[in-house]
Amino acid sequence: THFGYKTVDRDDKQKLVAEVFQSVAGKYDLMNDLMSMGVHRLWKRFTIEMSAARPGQKILDIAGGTGDLTAKFAKIVGDQGQVVLADINDAMLEVGRDKLTDAGVCGNVDYVQANAEDLPFTDNTFDCITIAFGLRNVTDKDKALRSMNRVLKPGGRLLVLEFSRTDNQLLSKLYDAYSFTALPLMGKLIADDAESYRYLAESIRMHPDQDTLEQMMKSAGFVQTGYHNMTGGIVALHKGIKP
Ligand code: SAM
Repeated sequence: THFGYKTVDRDDKQKLVAEVFQSVAGKYDLMNDLMSMGVHRLWKRFTIEMSAARPGQKILDIAGGTGDLTAKFAKIVGDQGQVVLADINDAMLEVGRDKLTDAGVCGNVDYVQANAEDLPFTDNTFDCITIAFGLRNVTDKDKALRSMNRVLKPGGRLLVLEFSRTDNQLLSKLYDAYSFTALPLMGKLIADDAESYRYLAESIRMHPDQDTLEQMMKSAGFVQTGYHNMTGGIVALHKGIKP
């Protein structure tokens, strides 16, 4: 399939990612709940806990999509704080903005269309940056990590929530079977879009494992790096501090 993007070049990948999220935006939240059986809510809740966010802080939720993390951060940082929901995709941003506005989250949230590789913010701006299920879609991940490092304040923290590797063989087999059969099928039935969900499964398989991503974060300038596996390593939360 053309979704095996080892062989596709940079522009192709960016175009593909744009098409996928343009296509899934309207059904994104529903599919998230179904595909993860609701567990993505726990992964996100843990991410918020690990962020140590406090009132008054400035937070960037990059690849923020439909805004699950942004909504939680907005409550924590309050009127004196600010949350920027940034995403490369206008359809995802629109769904996010509508959802948060309907939920009464407003005043301290800004929406910015931006590429994680080239963040349009001045140096040393944010106390905390999160990227949840976004990094694997970014073409040049090293560049994106350096860009995040640049816009963090010294002492600020980056949290990367992403699919990773389980070292449990049985779980790994079950998970592969699930992601390459059930996911595209659900995509077909619910969103009438099997290809996008096949991309999802393949992008998960291609994403760097825990130790590789930690090394990438170090190379991008982060210190005190580490990660926490969830659901047997199917998902990992990586942390790094800007020195
Ligand atoms: N963070 C949200 C969540 O956890 O539910 C959304 C995750 S969604 C799977 C991935 C998001 O990454 C999409 O909204 C997509 O548009 C965005 N994205 C992909 N490539 C990007 C890039 N280079 N820069 C910024 N956002 C990007």
